[in-house]
Amino acid sequence: MKFDISNILMNNGASMKLEYVGEPPEREPEKGCIIDGDITLSGTLTNNNGILSLDGHLDAGCKSECYRCLGEVRKVLRLTLKEDFINSADAGETEMYPFEGKILDISRALNDNIILNLPMKHLCSDQCKGLCSKCGGNLNEVQCGCIDDSIDPRMEGLSKFFE
Ligand SMILES: [Zn+2]
Ligand SMILES: [Zn+2]
Repeated sequence: MKFDISNILMNNGASMKLEYVGEPPEREPEKGCIIDGDITLSGTLTNNNGILSLDGHLDAGCKSECYRCLGEVRKVLRLTLKEDFINSADAGETEMYPFEGKILDISRALNDNIILNLPMKHLCSDQCKGLCSKCGGNLNEVQCGCIDDSIDPRMEGLSKFFE
């Protein structure tokens, strides 16, 4: 995801619009999570004394599996982007993303932002009941009627003791 920055590079305070609709930097930024369709980026890039500051928004559809019921989860991530980029020659030990010459590649910055904003656990709904531990039925859809009689083996010894 590369932008020609030659127009603002030589002018302190100059800015340009960044607009992008298309392929995400990575289709699967995280195991089990797929970026669905195109991503939409819109922002402004400003030259602050040679540091290029990106201020913008990113929308990305995300498809994953519910960790309780394994059903499909679809979400739209809406991210606020605030990142600084610096010429690789001046990068040194900074935390900023480097760019080379007159081309700014924001792929890595975007991907990092996407990963940071993915939920730790994907859930189809906060009320998801998950799967029955006995029959595997989806408890959101069926009432399987199984009774959970699994006894902790340590407790089993204890219950014999009391008999
Ligand atoms: Zn679920
Ligand atoms: Zn069941």
